[in-house]
Amino acid sequence: MHISSSVHANCGVVGVYGHPDAARLTYLCLYALQHRGQEGSGIVSSTGKEFRSHRAQGLVSDIFSDVNTLRKLEGVIAIGHNRYSTTGENIIVNIQPLVMSLHDGPIAISHNGNLVNSKSMRTKLMRQGSIFQTSSDSEVIVHLIAKSQENNLKDQIKEAILQVRGAYSLVLMTRNTLAAVRDPKGFRPLCIGEKDGAYIITSESCALDLIEAKYMRDVQPGELITVDEKGLHSEMIFPPEKTAYCIFEDIYFSRPDSRVFGEYVDKTRRKFGKRLAEEKPADGDIVISVPDSSNTAALGYSQKSNIKFEIGLIRNHYIGRTFIHPIQSQRDFNVLIKFNPVGGVLKDRRVIIVEDSIVRGTTIKKLVKMVRDAGAKEVHVRVSSPPIVSPCYYGMDFPTKEELIANNKSVEEIRQFLNVDSLGYFSLEGLLDSVENGETHFCTACFSGKYPIPLKEDFSKDQYEPDK
Ligand code: SF4
Repeated sequence: MHISSSVHANCGVVGVYGHPDAARLTYLCLYALQHRGQEGSGIVSSTGKEFRSHRAQGLVSDIFSDVNTLRKLEGVIAIGHNRYSTTGENIIVNIQPLVMSLHDGPIAISHNGNLVNSKSMRTKLMRQGSIFQTSSDSEVIVHLIAKSQENNLKDQIKEAILQVRGAYSLVLMTRNTLAAVRDPKGFRPLCIGEKDGAYIITSESCALDLIEAKYMRDVQPGELITVDEKGLHSEMIFPPEKTAYCIFEDIYFSRPDSRVFGEYVDKTRRKFGKRLAEEKPADGDIVISVPDSSNTAALGYSQKSNIKFEIGLIRNHYIGRTFIHPIQSQRDFNVLIKFNPVGGVLKDRRVIIVEDSIVRGTTIKKLVKMVRDAGAKEVHVRVSSPPIVSPCYYGMDFPTKEELIANNKSVEEIRQFLNVDSLGYFSLEGLLDSVENGETHFCTACFSGKYPIPLKEDFSKDQYEPDK
């Protein structure tokens, strides 16, 4: 699956407490989390007296390329955010961390996820006099914190969080405190690391590796963490409930070298590929992946089926923002700019392409044509996730139900549309068997239509029946 043409991945968050190079560490973590959002990025640091911030549209390495930018972000506390808009338009004011002035000082917030009751909460807050500066749902949380009558940050956050529903992995910062909170269903990952006595909180553990920090543990679903001069404090602010980890983190979002939901993504994704090979074998000479997100599942498929894994498509990783909306009249440009076939590998071969997911089907259709044009004798597509039939309301910007190809077409119709010799999807049962407590601890709403949080709001994208 490839985000420019199909779906928007959700965001990445980082928080650092107690390091003289807090902003630089935050920058490096954001760099490691670039895959979680490429529209914009920001860092806010605290000198203890005031906030310093820098936010802009574009890639992390471009935004913070000038050493002076990072130098100005002084302080031992910093938080950061990589944005791929899921709620709110893509405008500079929506780039996080959001910074607001409250009665007892400034606060900054970075949010990964999507609130399902933000519309009604926003209306309620506006009626009560709140003036919103952004169209982002994360600002609702800041206004709720601002309205709290509690006299410490922990209780203010608690009061705010208990009023919102949906998916949120948050990091927040005041002048002297770092805080983090994960929704009680734990949709999005969030973990804690340690380096030289400093605490790091980040969406994925691959960010800890880059700064040579030690992974300590995941922030638990429903847990509020605060870090101040007295150390790290933890409080469970919700009674235990059934979690709903986003299975798409394992299928596509997270990096294979990250540990999410208690397991390395590489291991889980490899299992998906192996089980897919058992479920949907194919007569082929070679297995290829659609790099990079399908690499690990393709390796698993190859290992189990004893069919050689080959690099049949080369991906160009160096696509700047200029190419995101190309004006070229060349057809299929968005795929051509990203991928090129390896003719010597594909020619006269029966090729099995492993793809992690199919949303609209347009990208994989173009790739199939590319592989055929390179001389493949047969093309078989195997998908390491089940057909996507419903949109996501928890932070993943799938298109409307009508645009999801599997919602409108049978597998055979999709096969014909893609022009492949065979097509096989992973079963939901196989997917859930491949992760620990799959049946009970994971969200699979985009495959099953069973939403773990009933949605009461009138979403403009789609109407559906909540899971009761
Ligand atoms: Fe993840 Fe799909 Fe659930 Fe959204 S609906 S949280 S993408 S599993």
